[in-house]
Amino acid sequence: MIPMAKPLIGEEEKQAVLQVLDSGILAQGPRVAAFEKAFAEACGVQHAIATSSGTTALQVALLAHGIGEGDEVITSPFTFIASANSVLYVGAKPVFVDIDARTFNLDASQIEAAITPKTKAILPIHLYGLCADMDAIMAIAEKHHLIVIEDACQAHTAKINGKCAGSFGTGTFSLYPTKNMTSAEGGMITSNDDAIAEKCRVLRNHGMRRRYYHDELGYNLRMTDVHAAIGHAQLLKLAKFNQARAKNAAYYDTNLKGVVTPYVPENCEHIYHQYTLRVPHGKRDGLREFLTKNEIGSEIYYPLPIHQQGFYREMLGEMSFPVAEQAAAEVLSIPVHPSLTQTDLEFVAGKINEYMG
Ligand SMILES: *Cc1c(COP(=O)(O)O)cnc(C)c1O
Repeated sequence: MIPMAKPLIGEEEKQAVLQVLDSGILAQGPRVAAFEKAFAEACGVQHAIATSSGTTALQVALLAHGIGEGDEVITSPFTFIASANSVLYVGAKPVFVDIDARTFNLDASQIEAAITPKTKAILPIHLYGLCADMDAIMAIAEKHHLIVIEDACQAHTAKINGKCAGSFGTGTFSLYPTKNMTSAEGGMITSNDDAIAEKCRVLRNHGMRRRYYHDELGYNLRMTDVHAAIGHAQLLKLAKFNQARAKNAAYYDTNLKGVVTPYVPENCEHIYHQYTLRVPHGKRDGLREFLTKNEIGSEIYYPLPIHQQGFYREMLGEMSFPVAEQAAAEVLSIPVHPSLTQTDLEFVAGKINEYMG
């Protein structure tokens, strides 16, 4: 079986973990701070704040900006559920805007129509490792005095106009094993705002500025030093991992037939967290079955847009976002991870062309 994802853990990660275990400082030690500093540098931002997951990074970022009850957050219905759930966690309401058919990201031209007096923030997702249209989104945010929280959980050092995902507004990243880099579980918040960064640090650690004095309701959403050691070792390999993904993507781009390959705007550097095809003419599910029979992994990200998930339907009522719904019916992601061999790539492309041809 050619799997969809394969974390690449080497001697560096193993040695780093053993060093932490031998040091006796397993949490709140020097590893987290060192990882944060390196991550901030990689993204070209002032601050990075490590958390326990990408989901808690989103939650802490929203809380740090004071988003809560009575507020609306504009986001995409075509993403992993955590993007929208985090808005619910803080008591705010997700307001969905349809996506662009080519990029699968928020259609910025539809955002302004969704703004109400309650709108507090825009939460774009850089889906599959391709940046959302940040020029347009930042201009709208500035015009309407809105906060921007970027879900960059799939976009570690993806770039638009030479700037990294997560460096425009407040960025949030996941370090789950299937992402382009991992700390096993973990997350990261990025910011150029001193006050927001400090607030995130306080919120993730029991609302505590001075030891055992708690100014506000905080949480335990910290990263351990063991996880930070893995994450830091992975960060040093991220550029190499991303290059390997881009090389695999380039092979598919030139060799696949009968499917729509990923669109990359000229000002973007895609990091191919996923290589996602659009399979037309109702052939998607058949192609997926054919690939499975041939021991090729594939996955649908995501088969049901968030506005059609049961509890969202109950909460927000029936809504229609036709571009997202069509994408859900047509997308198929195929293996693009760095461990693929040339033989794997040829086999995958050959089988897809055989089925579509
Ligand atoms: C992975 C992911 C998350 C959540 O990250 P976790 O680390 O799994 O909590 C949120 N949003 C998107 C778009 C993701 O891909």
